[in-house]
Amino acid sequence: MIKYALVCDASHEFESWFASSGSYDLQVKRGYVTCPFCQSPKVTKAIMSPNIGRKDKALAPTDQPANDTGAAPVAQPQAMALLDERQQALREMIKELHEKIIASSDDVGTAFSEEARKMHDGETPTRSIRGKASFEEARALLEDGIPVMPIPDLPEERN
Ligand SMILES: [Zn+2]
Repeated sequence: MIKYALVCDASHEFESWFASSGSYDLQVKRGYVTCPFCQSPKVTKAIMSPNIGRKDKALAPTDQPANDTGAAPVAQPQAMALLDERQQALREMIKELHEKIIASSDDVGTAFSEEARKMHDGETPTRSIRGKASFEEARALLEDGIPVMPIPDLPEERN
């Protein structure tokens, strides 16, 4: 038996055992060897895989998890940094929005649901209000077509 590391025309890497190199040639020629990922019969030998550990990572541009147990999860510290920056920007945006809502709306407290409904029904003039509503109340308002939205919470403001 001989083990070959194979690669398909879509750059998927996989391994397969053959009785001999002649058997490999024959099976590939007949299209019996297919890529386990995309079923492509267009496979070629990537590199012979003797038992000395895998050093063929450079051949895997797509980083497919394959049946390659030696592959470590891809760590991308740079992507993390970008995410942090974006989260920071998002946080700033939320904070700004939060402040705008607070500054431009009347706090009606627990009467929020009632007030929102009154405005929607035309009983009181429309204005921006904020207050407290239970999840059920908020859902009922939304179901009635009253566009309420939760004010985003800012963790640091709880300090
Ligand atoms: Zn493939």
